[in-house]
Amino acid sequence: MYDKFKDECGVFGIFGNPEAANLTYLGLYALQHRGQESAGIVSADGEKMHASRAMGHVADAFTEASLLSLPGHLAIGHTRYSTAGESRLENAQPFLIECAHGQIAIGHNGNLVNARELRDELVQGGSIFATSSDTEVVLHLYARSKKPSVEEALVESIAQLQGAYSLVLLTKNRLIAARDPHGFRPLALGTLGDSWIVCSETCAMDLIGATYVRDVEPGEVLIISEGGVRSIQPFPPLPLAHCVFEHVYFARPDSYVFGRSVNEVRTEFGKILAREAPADADVVVPIPDSGVCAAIGFAEEAHLPIQMGLIRNHYVGRTFIQPQQSIRHFGVKLNPVRSILEGKRVVLVDDSIVRGTTSRKIVTMIKAAGAREVHLRISCPPTISPCFYGVDTPSRAELIGATHTIDEIRKHVEADSLAYLSLDGLRSAVGTQQNSYCTSCYTGVYPVAFPRDEHAYLQLALKAVD
Ligand code: SF4
Repeated sequence: MYDKFKDECGVFGIFGNPEAANLTYLGLYALQHRGQESAGIVSADGEKMHASRAMGHVADAFTEASLLSLPGHLAIGHTRYSTAGESRLENAQPFLIECAHGQIAIGHNGNLVNARELRDELVQGGSIFATSSDTEVVLHLYARSKKPSVEEALVESIAQLQGAYSLVLLTKNRLIAARDPHGFRPLALGTLGDSWIVCSETCAMDLIGATYVRDVEPGEVLIISEGGVRSIQPFPPLPLAHCVFEHVYFARPDSYVFGRSVNEVRTEFGKILAREAPADADVVVPIPDSGVCAAIGFAEEAHLPIQMGLIRNHYVGRTFIQPQQSIRHFGVKLNPVRSILEGKRVVLVDDSIVRGTTSRKIVTMIKAAGAREVHLRISCPPTISPCFYGVDTPSRAELIGATHTIDEIRKHVEADSLAYLSLDGLRSAVGTQQNSYCTSCYTGVYPVAFPRDEHAYLQLALKAVD
């Protein structure tokens, strides 16, 4: 039922551990929220590389036997939501190929805005593609490089990429991590005893008892081998553009991304929202799980009680019994708590509205449970433009923030009042690095030019927001 931007992908890599594949499995488990369509692990033992990929959630994609088939002391893993390319096994990552430079595997979080042009050029030059994923172009560029060493060939191929990429790569004896110079997507470096870890979010390190060391810097390539960790900065620096939506929704609240606690930033969004758009109300109710941190901040700032007036049913969709159409709320993952809501003026807090369909259902549900008023508060500005940097978003025509004024949205979702966090509020909550964030989905101003055929996404003129 959720009307949200879709998560992108999660990547994990480990060097120097006899349980590399098992730890990668656990790391992917912690990163499951970043992609649920497929999962894969490639391991290496210094001589050979081994791969296992499957559709579905991490827990379903691997068995004890498949993990046993992944020996070695280094591994990378990937959990995928298809931001570019269809949802099928050929597109499941990590990709593993053999070329003149030897075997190499790659896992990618992000989206390459020049993938189409690069792919067309490569096809003209005789390349045959096995997938519809933008990530495969990196491997073709690498395989065609005439540079004498693995590192030089990789740097030459990565230098041709534009857009968002946090990459983990594996050869039979090296783990390599690379992050685009804008730093769109997070990528963290840590240690577990003598082993090195790279992963999308620090929550993956927490699960395996690893220690966060630092972020892989924008534009940095890290080469981890028996000789230690080597950092190179081969690309010219570009303006930073960390995805602010990682703080709004994507990342787990127990993670640190871009050097900040996601929980702290999200709570701050709620506090600022309470100052910007207070409401005469009796209780603050979060939409679980996306609105919880901001609701806590709102309640604290507004000196209102916070209560779980909506309960999430984690097991919906796991039944084989098909209900009759007349069972109205079957499949709805939230249930209202009448004893909390009845007769109350409710501040309902969520992180975002994409199409408005879910918000309307939830407001209606809360009113049906007896709430006197529902004041909807959203902890980011109206979403008015699609993303081209690794997030699956609808076209502008489908974004209610682009096609309706705030009062029209309020009427559509049937709330008594509606307010969004301001762009200034959003920027001030992410703190001192505020100029280093991408906010394109709220502004329509893009830090990296996107492909021409994507202009169709932006054909619709924006409706003035009141
Ligand atoms: S457009 Fe939005 S979702 Fe995409 S990178 Fe920028 S802030 Fe993130």
